[in-house]
Amino acid sequence: MISSRAAVLHRPGEPLRIETITVAPPGPGEALVEIAASGLCHTDTTAFDGGNPSCVYPAVLGHEGAGRVMEVGPEVTGLRAGDHVIPLYGPECGSCRMCLSGRTNLCWTIKDTRDRGVMPGGTSRFRLGDQTVHHFMGTSTFSQYTVLPEIALARIRSDAPLDSVCLLGCAATTGAGAALEDVRNGDSVAVFGLGGVGVNVVQGARIAGAKRIIGVDTVAAKRPLAERLGMTDFVDASAVDDIVGAVHELSGGGVDAAFECTGIVPVMRQAVDSLIAGWGTCVLLGVEPSGAQLSFPPVLARYGRTIKGSYFGGVKGRSGLGRFVDLYLDGVLDIDSQITHRAPLADINTGFDRMGRGEGIRTVISFD
Ligand code: NAD
Ligand code: ZN
Repeated sequence: MISSRAAVLHRPGEPLRIETITVAPPGPGEALVEIAASGLCHTDTTAFDGGNPSCVYPAVLGHEGAGRVMEVGPEVTGLRAGDHVIPLYGPECGSCRMCLSGRTNLCWTIKDTRDRGVMPGGTSRFRLGDQTVHHFMGTSTFSQYTVLPEIALARIRSDAPLDSVCLLGCAATTGAGAALEDVRNGDSVAVFGLGGVGVNVVQGARIAGAKRIIGVDTVAAKRPLAERLGMTDFVDASAVDDIVGAVHELSGGGVDAAFECTGIVPVMRQAVDSLIAGWGTCVLLGVEPSGAQLSFPPVLARYGRTIKGSYFGGVKGRSGLGRFVDLYLDGVLDIDSQITHRAPLADINTGFDRMGRGEGIRTVISFD
């Protein structure tokens, strides 16, 4: 048992509380990780109001972290103390039907226990006094020490600064990965929502060779960073009435690829409606409110448009994340300019308040 400072969400509607929890040693197939830094992501906020059915309270939130392996449990073969790692909310077991399909980065081997807030053996490693505290997204990176299954840890090169590459645990990989998969050289692209995920779609589209990258956001202050990362045109959704019409005009009849990065269902429909007929592809990245439905006339798909989604940018965590660390260290992928705020764990609620007001892009919490 070790003590760990952690941000705990006791129940919906309350702010996070900084507590000293105890963390049990790693079980079979698990590793104890010391988190160096963790970004604040919009997905964490789905637990705030009780709307995320996979959050079991009380819980340690956080899923965009990076750290070092402190100790490995029995049966761990591919990790040892000192390794630098990025926790994965989407694991890669390498042997299930999904992993072997060659068609998806999803791996649901431990989804059932992850969505119940416990480790694959069925128990939590976190306690506060005599109370059980649950894991969240299988990662719980808002704790100085956390435990993860080996299959949910990507080992990365040790020269990458952990307080930057933590963003590869979610937003940077989700956005850049999705764009690199679906954008072709010369394409026109629309990106709805220029937050942590959206700005990375912008730079992924630039890296993929897009000639026109149209960003749409309700907050004009998102514009300068998106431009720096490759956005060529901006549509201010708070000032323009016909957003879809504006995207069609800028792209000469509809974009080749549209990416939805807000999680707002009517914005998803705008993204679909922005596509060119024949081949336009809409990629849904935003997480909708629980139970929401998206509707569209079937003819949109019949006339050759593709509507798809992407989870973690389509990237397989353990075998695919190293490429993105390399892109960052080679100066191709810009992570640092998205980190608009850095803060200690004690100020985590202030960071989420900023996100709620649409200020800045990413806040990174540092434990070092
Ligand atoms: P964020 O809060 O940083 O960004 C959201 C952006 O959308 C903000 O810039 C905001 O101003 C803008 N916006 C709000 N309303 C808008 C509107 N009507 N039109 C255009 N823009 C609007 O959030 P984030 O961390 O970038 O996450 C974005 C979404 O992606 C969330 O739903 C999150 O849960 C989801 N997400 C999905 C994955 C995945 O694997 N698919 C991974 C991470 C996050
Ligand atoms: Zn996230």
